Amino acid sequence: MKKEIFGLTPEELQQEFVAAGLKKFRASQVYQWLYKKCVFKFEEMHNLSKADITVLNEKFTVMPANINILTRWKSSDGLTEKLLLELQDGNSLETVLMHHDYGYSVCVSSQVGCAMACAFCASGLNGCVRNLTSAEIIMQVYLFNSMIAPQQVSRVVVMGSGEPMLNYDEVTGALKFLHREDTAFMSYRNMTVSTCGIIPGIERLAEENIPINLAVSLHAVKDDVRTQLMPVNKGFPFPSVIAAAEKYARASGRQVTYEYILIKDKNDSPEDAQLLSNYLKFKHASVNLIPANPVPEKGFERPPAKRIEGFLRILQKNKINATIRKEMGKDINAACGQLRAKFNDNK
Ligand code: SAH
Repeated sequence: MKKEIFGLTPEELQQEFVAAGLKKFRASQVYQWLYKKCVFKFEEMHNLSKADITVLNEKFTVMPANINILTRWKSSDGLTEKLLLELQDGNSLETVLMHHDYGYSVCVSSQVGCAMACAFCASGLNGCVRNLTSAEIIMQVYLFNSMIAPQQVSRVVVMGSGEPMLNYDEVTGALKFLHREDTAFMSYRNMTVSTCGIIPGIERLAEENIPINLAVSLHAVKDDVRTQLMPVNKGFPFPSVIAAAEKYARASGRQVTYEYILIKDKNDSPEDAQLLSNYLKFKHASVNLIPANPVPEKGFERPPAKRIEGFLRILQKNKINATIRKEMGKDINAACGQLRAKFNDNK
């Protein structure tokens, strides 16, 4: 079987190459092609000898060169692009590129499917199939890097399918890799991990020296409503999640973002807005209000604009930093919570 080399460190790559009878310096050449030039095919790496290219092709594979892009959608405004990828084991995965005025960001998935079964989300409709490897997470960024070269993705948000804190090592491994000076050299400040509130993961993150942004999917501040929307609330009640996230904010110096989907007549009342303010008062935090993306299978609706603005105003009156999320890619089902399900439905 050929050895997969995508995502290996320079040291690991060198070991593999030497074991395959290649010169040491070939490893640093290939490494540069992969992570600085975003070239994934050995035959396109111009400083390699023909003989070495033959050996490399016999012994090694490079994941992004072998990923089958099943579908590629572009939003009508051209700013969002979604890929449906076929992984090597036949599973499929969605990943989204967004073009902002400050640059490109990618919304990566951390698992195939999701086990969290949030009531409003399409990713968890069929449960979690498996964790992604760190190479598969890195690959999502690099596929886009190669498409937009010589530009580069400057931000990564782990907000696609899956619960990143249940795949902690692979997710943080991928982020550390992307941070390396000899790869994408991406600042931790430009990385965000979004969790539904897995407390042990948040605590672990607080102990590491990787000051990434933490986002917490809160979505309700009444216990019964949150449990109904997010079953994870039974194991990790939200007040304890907020306490853990606050500790992270203090340890990392990074403000925590609370995501709050506004669902008509579910969590969008003025009373909810006041309760949310009470919970977040004096916290190192901000709120990102997300008008619900309707998931037809679930029967959720978006509140009227007036109701959304009213909710925002109450937060602001309470001096809570809050914004309404700018929506991207809705026409290609690339918006939050819409990933993957459509394709599986149509299969
Ligand atoms: N499991 C992680 C990350 C993936 S979900 C988490 O829960 O944070 C990324 C974000 O999309 C979460 O805030 C999630 O709650 C939100 N989301 C899911 N379904 C949505 C929908 N139908 N409309 C709007 N946002 C949704």
